[in-house]
Amino acid sequence: MSSIFTKIVNGEIPCYKIYEDEKTMAFLDINPETPGHTLVIPKVEVDKIYELSDEDYTALMNTVKKLSVHMEKVLGARTLWKVIGTDVPHAHVHLLPFDKTWHQDRHVELTEDEFKEIQKKLEIK
Ligand code: AMP
Repeated sequence: MSSIFTKIVNGEIPCYKIYEDEKTMAFLDINPETPGHTLVIPKVEVDKIYELSDEDYTALMNTVKKLSVHMEKVLGARTLWKVIGTDVPHAHVHLLPFDKTWHQDRHVELTEDEFKEIQKKLEIK
């Protein structure tokens, strides 16, 4: 069975997309720790990041870097990178626009309009 992230890649379930290229995709996390919390995934479905081929790993990290530079420029905040991977068995990197109020257990409630507004600010077409 496909992971929830593969279903997003295939357009079977919706997401607030930020970026897509041949090998990677990025979209807003639906349960954000900070506004702009983004997940970067490889399109190929593997559970752990270190199971990726060197080529797919490099593509993933290039997208993480590209989006971090972009987010810092747009939001004026550095990004925190996190790899947890205990909930969804499809490799992903969390990118969090960081501020001093962030802590591990914090979550923010966003309306659909707020998600869309952040998506518009962050997306790279
Ligand atoms: P973890 O596997 O612990 O790194 O956490 C998985 C992350 O995926 C969590 O932060 C969830 O909020 C997020 N998530 C799960 N399903 C979706 C989805 N359909 N769209 C966006 N983010 C999701």
